[in-house]
Amino acid sequence: MRKTVILTAAVILVFVCLCGCAKEAPSFAVPDPVIVLPGGDPAAAVIPASLHTPFSLDTLPEYDGSPCAVVNGGVPYFTMNEKVATSYEYYSRLDKDGRCGAAVACIGADLMPVESRDYIGLVRPSGWRSDRYEFIENEYLYNRCHLIGFQLAGENANEKNLITGTRYMNIDGMLPYENLIADYVKNTGNHVLYRVTPVFEGEDVIARGVLMEAYSTEDHGEGVCFCVFAYNVQPYIVINYATGESRPDEGMAELLSGYVINVRSRKFHKLTCKYAILIREENVEFYHGSRDFLIERGYKACGYCRP
Ligand SMILES: [Zn+2]
Repeated sequence: MRKTVILTAAVILVFVCLCGCAKEAPSFAVPDPVIVLPGGDPAAAVIPASLHTPFSLDTLPEYDGSPCAVVNGGVPYFTMNEKVATSYEYYSRLDKDGRCGAAVACIGADLMPVESRDYIGLVRPSGWRSDRYEFIENEYLYNRCHLIGFQLAGENANEKNLITGTRYMNIDGMLPYENLIADYVKNTGNHVLYRVTPVFEGEDVIARGVLMEAYSTEDHGEGVCFCVFAYNVQPYIVINYATGESRPDEGMAELLSGYVINVRSRKFHKLTCKYAILIREENVEFYHGSRDFLIERGYKACGYCRP
């Protein structure tokens, strides 16, 4: 097969999806009794938004290739008297299994960090693992995902605000919505009520995803108003949510088992090798099968990608 086939395969990598959203009522952690109020003025009584939402996985469509699904018609579940315009943050205690619950904050410019992010690598959220795949950007399947993004409230290594989330959920699912809020608050000086709820099924250690709700209070949702679920999935990867273990899905496993052969130099490469891409089209072959077979036929493994 020709190089175009390899390129096509590489393009497919970007688009294939996996499904896997089981259905059960989410469990929530117990809320902290104390609200963090900037300035700490006890007289400035604020009713924090509830850490509970009526959202259930039962009503959620299966992941279909889009990182987020609109929930409740895009309308957040906040009640009227929760829609305050005072900055605060509110994080659930970890539950008995060490899992995060909802985090809610009223984001104002005064909460936003002016310093850069500190090291958060010492926090081990429930289900944490360091699985690596070379076809994932930065290779790591899991990130320590902030529930309330660092750029919004400046929380660093707060274990009540970090869950084990896929690179895909973090970057493709959550980040665009965090940016939306950050830009709005910076541009207007207004507040955005923001609640992020990790949704676990049963005793799972990895969340199926996060429910993100936001509402700009001063302009009654005119500037920012959304209610979406970001799926904790990674294209081409099958995740065991009970343990955090992962593996390539069948399509990816097949792709990864392939080699690119330079029929002229008689070297073979991994599909992802940068030298495989450089082989002249008339010299490229794609091979599916055992490494031993190639060695027996006199082919040599590339010294760079070590297939
Ligand atoms: Zn190579």
